[in-house]
Amino acid sequence: MIPSGAKFRIGGVDLAVVNDGTYWYDAGAIFGVVPRVMWERVSGPLDDRYRIPLGLNCLLLRSQGKTILIETGVGAKPGDRDAASPAEEGTLLDSLGALGVTPEEVDIVVNTHLHADHCGWNTTIPNGGAPDAAPVPTFPNARYVVSAREWEDATHPNERTRATYLSRNLDPIADRLDLMDGEHRITDEVIFVPAPGHTDGHSTVVVRSGQEWGVYLGDLAQHRTQLERTPWVSGLDTLPLVSMETKKRLMDECIEAGALVMFCHGAYPGVGRMTRTPEGYRKWVDVEPLPPEAFAREHGGHEDGGHEHGGHLHPH
Ligand SMILES: [Zn+2]
Repeated sequence: MIPSGAKFRIGGVDLAVVNDGTYWYDAGAIFGVVPRVMWERVSGPLDDRYRIPLGLNCLLLRSQGKTILIETGVGAKPGDRDAASPAEEGTLLDSLGALGVTPEEVDIVVNTHLHADHCGWNTTIPNGGAPDAAPVPTFPNARYVVSAREWEDATHPNERTRATYLSRNLDPIADRLDLMDGEHRITDEVIFVPAPGHTDGHSTVVVRSGQEWGVYLGDLAQHRTQLERTPWVSGLDTLPLVSMETKKRLMDECIEAGALVMFCHGAYPGVGRMTRTPEGYRKWVDVEPLPPEAFAREHGGHEDGGHEHGGHLHPH
């Protein structure tokens, strides 16, 4: 069993990182124009094909009575995981199940963008179906929140994007979409915010409660060092200069507010804060998950009041 379910809290909102596994990806593509002699010092271990491990950290939260899943990983339809070279077996659905959450309970799925490693579990081959059966939505009662720009680009791929914008992740959800043209409040606490660069329609998700906020970065970066160093922009970004500006602005805001920063491809659970060193450089600092006992102690015996506290993640 892969590690999953690490819990964090922003104000009154409890969050759990749900893990879709780890996969290996070409390090040169991740680090773009940065020379290997520079990224090798920080990349961590490479495999014999010059790939580094990437997390697949998705986020589950409850807010104002809604069960919300942010990002759906690589998926498990035939071909999904082969293409992603998973280093560890393990699936998002197992990770949700370990928290007592069934696919039917998910009310809203948010995709920061529609690359294949972020929306694979949007759809699934029905149980018992032939491997070539048509995929159906994995979360039968969910609306899918996506940027309108991203949907347009994903459903009209070009020569560069067609390997990652896969119709099997998209077509089955076409009648369940909430397409966004800008900032959008999913609930009072969960806000979908455009953050272009990785793709034109790429978005982040801000969670705001009381005086605290945090942000799920999607693919604003694939490696923490890219969050620290402004010109380290991924070779996968379609608008690298826009990506750089988006990152600079957002990271400065996160430092000022002490915001919780969560990202998909960080080493599990991929949660930290950005700080500034005395020399003025941005620095990522890991945030440890809340101990499970702390959750049990604070929420134990108050199961009925869960929603008043912004929702928590125990099975009811
Ligand atoms: Zn990605």
